[in-house]
Amino acid sequence: MTNKRAVTLIELVVVVTILAIFASIVSGIYVNYHLRTKASAEKSICIEKRKQIQYAEELFVEDLGNHSENLQNLVNGGYLTDIPGCPSGGVYAWMPHDEGDPLYQTQVVCSVHGTINPPTEAEVKQEKEKGKEKHKK
Ligand SMILES: [Zn+2]
Repeated sequence: MTNKRAVTLIELVVVVTILAIFASIVSGIYVNYHLRTKASAEKSICIEKRKQIQYAEELFVEDLGNHSENLQNLVNGGYLTDIPGCPSGGVYAWMPHDEGDPLYQTQVVCSVHGTINPPTEAEVKQEKEKGKEKHKK
């Protein structure tokens, strides 16, 4: 019975190699996706933390009538419980309010994620219209 074919070692090696290549491609895609998702989540958390700092600064201005010189003043004044940190290990820099430019707000810049994107003109307009609607009621 010479017609019966057995699996040769070479065929086995070819199949195993194809499976290994396929597995490495799939795991590469998964790792890439996982890292991008993690980076995106960390950026969202970082932006949220910096928005909290900016909100604390707005309260500081409302209460004291002047801008805070640094983050520590917000903690000392009880506007923040502590100085938050970036989840990606970025360092926050305090970019104080510019008296010469009334439109420039104090910003907290992250060394990893940069600035928070300022609101677009459309967003500002929308906020103003919301305010007017509230005023009418
Ligand atoms: Zn950050």
